Amino acid sequence: MSALPESLPPADPAALQLDRALQLLQQSGRDALPGAPGSAAWLQAVIDGLCEISSRDALTGLSNRRAFEAALNREIDRVARSGEPALLLMLDIDHFKRVNDHHGHIVGDQVIRAVAECLAECVRPMDLPARIGGEEFAVILPNCPPAFGQTVAERIRQRIEQKVITAGLSLRLGITVSVGGAYAPQWVRSTPALWTERADLQLYRAKSEGRNRTCLEPTPVSNVSAEEKGLLFGTTMPGDLE
Ligand code: GH3
Ligand code: MG
Ligand code: MG
Repeated sequence: MSALPESLPPADPAALQLDRALQLLQQSGRDALPGAPGSAAWLQAVIDGLCEISSRDALTGLSNRRAFEAALNREIDRVARSGEPALLLMLDIDHFKRVNDHHGHIVGDQVIRAVAECLAECVRPMDLPARIGGEEFAVILPNCPPAFGQTVAERIRQRIEQKVITAGLSLRLGITVSVGGAYAPQWVRSTPALWTERADLQLYRAKSEGRNRTCLEPTPVSNVSAEEKGLLFGTTMPGDLE
């Protein structure tokens, strides 16, 4: 990707084709733009609105797959630099096809939205819940100590299990999810593909062990000593100056 210049020349709003962009913003309820049409503040709001739309899942309002992948890359960089533990959870609704088959796609969509709401309610502001596929979700949890991983994953699973989804006049539905999780290797640069693969493996395990359960990869104990850390990152270790 080429680097952006530090400051861009001012755009001529009259020469820009903004109709489709404005239509998209209007459809998504983001059409209250600040400033006079064509002003820098107004154009910035158009750009910000489009960025927001392109990173959100339209059905649930959660981050979409694109935003998830970007966040995963950022988190891998952060873990490699800081050594902080970061957990990736993958969730998949159990027997979701049956919901669609028995109650139709509209109810199916409602179930997906309900799961998304539970997810958003269960995580911290710094976590990133995303809808990454049809009835598949992921959560990136930065700085999540291994001792808490299972508790967080279980809290999400239980919240969804307890949720009663109502549709129409009398339909009351319960739903469960299977959850798989893996920690990013600390002090080592991983790849998004490797990390998701490991979390996915645990998700498959949760499915094959009966669904409605959480399986987390056992966390390897970090064997990196303070000295090795210093060598890796060039930081001054206690004793170096003596
Ligand atoms: P398992 O417990 O093994 O996960 O079984 P499952 O039935 O959930 O899994 P499967 O992958 O067979 O079914 C997923 C279904 O999700 C199939 C597809 O029609 C449906 N689906 C995918 N995206 C959407 C969507 O946006 N809305 C609705 N209503 N259904 C969707
Ligand atoms: Mg699935
Ligand atoms: Mg499923």
